[in-house]
Amino acid sequence: MSPRREVLVPTGDPAAAPAADAAVAGASRAVVHAGGLEGQRAVELSADEGDENVETGIRPRRLAEFVGQSAVRSHLEVVLEAARRRGQPVDHLLFAGPPGLGKTTLAGIVAAEMGAGLRVTSGPALARGGDIAALLSDMQPSDVLFIDEIHRLNRAVEEILYPAMEDYQIDVVIGKGPAARSVRLELPPFTLVGATTRTGLLTGPLRDRFGFIETLELYSTVELEQIVHRSARLLGVACDDAGAAEIARRSRGTPRLAIRLLRRVRDYVEVKGDGAISGASAREGCAHFGVDELGLDGLDKRLLHVLCVGFAGRPVGLTTLAMSVGEEPETIEDVYEPYLVQSGLVMRTPRGRVPGPAAWTHLGLTDPALADDVGAARRDEQPPTLFAEG
Ligand code: ADP
Repeated sequence: MSPRREVLVPTGDPAAAPAADAAVAGASRAVVHAGGLEGQRAVELSADEGDENVETGIRPRRLAEFVGQSAVRSHLEVVLEAARRRGQPVDHLLFAGPPGLGKTTLAGIVAAEMGAGLRVTSGPALARGGDIAALLSDMQPSDVLFIDEIHRLNRAVEEILYPAMEDYQIDVVIGKGPAARSVRLELPPFTLVGATTRTGLLTGPLRDRFGFIETLELYSTVELEQIVHRSARLLGVACDDAGAAEIARRSRGTPRLAIRLLRRVRDYVEVKGDGAISGASAREGCAHFGVDELGLDGLDKRLLHVLCVGFAGRPVGLTTLAMSVGEEPETIEDVYEPYLVQSGLVMRTPRGRVPGPAAWTHLGLTDPALADDVGAARRDEQPPTLFAEG
């Protein structure tokens, strides 16, 4: 492979600050992120931008280093090996799942395993058709193009992608007005890797053009412990099994949060302790940063409080719930809810969200529906509507 130059991804977003993240590359080339890949959130921990770059080495580069998601891994093993044997690029891949579960990492792994280049951009960063056309026409054979938040692509960009994905061709319009003419450009075969927090938001034609759609699941505590151990080793901090377990338990099934919490606990033990992470020091460190035993942060707790106290356990619509805590409904649904639902703290019913049994216990309250018949009758009432549900 010839060394390749750094790729600047076109972006219409003035706030997008390209930052080389050689970590994702894992492959031989530098990679540039255009735009924020997703809203940073880490159980009320500071959004540590710099950390992403310091991650070099922590982000797995090979499939064998990727912990968990066994179904996705075994599917990918076959797909990658088949493509290698045929000497062709891998079919277009779509990864779905909440933020921080490894979608970007997997795109980097696909490129590294295929010995190909990786270009990283995101749906909102591709403002005009020209942006994607410029990017595609600069691809090298077998390159991997990663588009994060692909459900946020605009229509014009999406329509250029269809023939590009299907036939490796794009039509570009040259010139303006009556002199404008359309020219067909042949593209080298490439692999598009898309990531989305929700496949449901993708248009049908775009979804149909992916040969492989995988949904990433939240990680088990055991898997997160392995990730914490691995990351601690790479960060050069001593962490025993009890320490890793405490951090894993508070990481909401999400590797990104596990790694971020590990970093904060490392800060804590370096300043307040002996520099090594044990069960006790991990508990103290997490408490110091306001992360409770379930890894819930301020907004999670406000959500539970609104459900249990504000609405006394009655079903609440998503929009009402989101407005009550001052968040966007999509953020509640994509970022906060997956873990709350999985851990039994929130239940989604056809009539709205209700607190799960674990929520009452966690807040030290009693479900009024269990306490008396009046409470049970109240829960059967129509949900109160503070705001029109969208
Ligand atoms: P996403 O693109 O889904 O938001 P990323 O791929 O950026 O998530 O992963 C977030 C962080 O978690 C990265 O720093 C990566 O190192 C780590 N990570 C994610 N998945 C795994 C995994 N399966 N094994 C080890 N580390 C992981």
